[in-house]
Amino acid sequence: MKTQFTFSDPNYKIHKLEEIEKINSREELYDFFWEIFRSYKDQIIAFCPHCGDERRMEIELKHFDDDRNPYRYSMGAPHGTIYPNNLNSTKEKKSIAVSKFPIILKCTCLQCNSQVITLIYLDANQKLKYAFLYDTYTGAITPNTPDEIKYYLTEAFKCRAIGAYSAAVSMYRSALEWLMHLNGYKAGMLGKKLNNFFKDIDNKNAPEWAYSIPKNILEVIKKLGNESIHTNNGNLSIQDKMDIDLIHKIDLAFKYILEIAYEQPQRLLALSKQFDNV
Ligand SMILES: [Zn+2]
Repeated sequence: MKTQFTFSDPNYKIHKLEEIEKINSREELYDFFWEIFRSYKDQIIAFCPHCGDERRMEIELKHFDDDRNPYRYSMGAPHGTIYPNNLNSTKEKKSIAVSKFPIILKCTCLQCNSQVITLIYLDANQKLKYAFLYDTYTGAITPNTPDEIKYYLTEAFKCRAIGAYSAAVSMYRSALEWLMHLNGYKAGMLGKKLNNFFKDIDNKNAPEWAYSIPKNILEVIKKLGNESIHTNNGNLSIQDKMDIDLIHKIDLAFKYILEIAYEQPQRLLALSKQFDNV
């Protein structure tokens, strides 16, 4: 039996919009948009690539079915007294129906004002597809992230934006390899670099920030990166686990690693200077 699309997570995050590709019918699509605009009042929590973290965003529906309908609005959530009374009525749900494609959503970060355009369209087989078009493709970087790491995280984010998840994972692997390289671990491939890094942690010779990073995160990014580009004994299905939830976790992991490695030390140094000559 086909899994019913349910939409009851109160902490709904826009990265799940990528799950729109799992929707199999118009009815499910109606439910999807109904929940966004009826229950979440045109605000959602989403990953903002400019802030490098999850932020509250305003969501607007910019283009969809333009047939006349008293319950349907050109953008945003329904307002005032025109709310349909019976929330479970299929007929009323259909009143915010989306029957023409493409559907275009605009999300605006309430903190930094950067925008994400979400394009939802049908492919040649009438399957739902999406693309996220960001006004900034900075990925999970932080202000003092070195350019080499920025480059690969940005590439990863572009892959994420169109659902090329295995490609994104291989870019995260490169970003991790640059993190090691720039911290003095230049010998060998990523496996050897990480082993030397872990040995230095054990021997208390590693960079200051290294002691705060859980080793398993780095190990897993390396393993996934290898799996994303290898034939894995002829097993293509290993790519199935590279889904949006995994990608989202890796983006957040990089955000925290870069914060600890490149932001906190700078802030402490700046603070320490203010204590000079006091
Ligand atoms: Zn932002």
